Amino acid sequence: MACKQWNSQPAKQTKNYGTYQNPPDLQSNTWTLIRFQEIADKDSVKWLFRKDGCMHCTDAACVKACPSGALYYTEYGTVGINHERCIGCKECVSACPFDIPRYDQATDKVYKCDLCLTRIQAALEPACVKACPTGALKFGDKASMLKLAYKQAKELGGNASVYGDKFVDGTHDLYVLPEKPAVYEKLPLKPSVPLSIIVWKDMLKPLSLLVAGGVIAGSFLHYIIHGPKLPDEDQNQKGGE
Ligand code: SF4
Ligand code: SF4
Repeated sequence: MACKQWNSQPAKQTKNYGTYQNPPDLQSNTWTLIRFQEIADKDSVKWLFRKDGCMHCTDAACVKACPSGALYYTEYGTVGINHERCIGCKECVSACPFDIPRYDQATDKVYKCDLCLTRIQAALEPACVKACPTGALKFGDKASMLKLAYKQAKELGGNASVYGDKFVDGTHDLYVLPEKPAVYEKLPLKPSVPLSIIVWKDMLKPLSLLVAGGVIAGSFLHYIIHGPKLPDEDQNQKGGE
């Protein structure tokens, strides 16, 4: 009977996304991910793969937004993260145009790929490049990588293009995409530093520091000209009012 009652309940529907994507997304402990996509191509289907992770922007919204200096530009132009400085405010999470940093509640910190900074400092290639069995990932100085990327895109022909060198002052991760960028899921067409961060960091903050500096300079000038302000000076002023 219990079984009959169980069967009379409507079956719980689980949505079938029709994808082999695993893991489904970047996480605080998954800093790089191969995104899988199946697209219709005339009478057949085509599989697209894209390595997702920090793009290491030259003009990085996360670095601009981070109030503690936890995110910083390394000597290689990539973007590193110092977890001792991270205060878990998640400003970088909302600022990143590529949706990369991931917050971990257990540690109250944010995580992302740092392009294996310690390996690069030891003259080694990043672990993903080392592990890739097909040579799909390449690592080198920016000028030679750009040259190689354009050469590969030309060889591929059709809709192939280079992605990454035309926004945020150029990223340090580049893609050679066989299809138009618009075809790829979760790949922004015009990534940029959010306007709110530009207004705050590049305009309002320097202005507020200037005003604060002006007040300090004004007080200092008063001290030089008139000497320290004495209590009876205040009394005299009040009396005269
Ligand atoms: S991709 Fe996002 S997290 Fe990476 S450097 Fe650019 S803004 Fe920062
Ligand atoms: S969460 Fe951490 S890394 Fe991100 S902006 Fe805040 S302090 Fe910086």
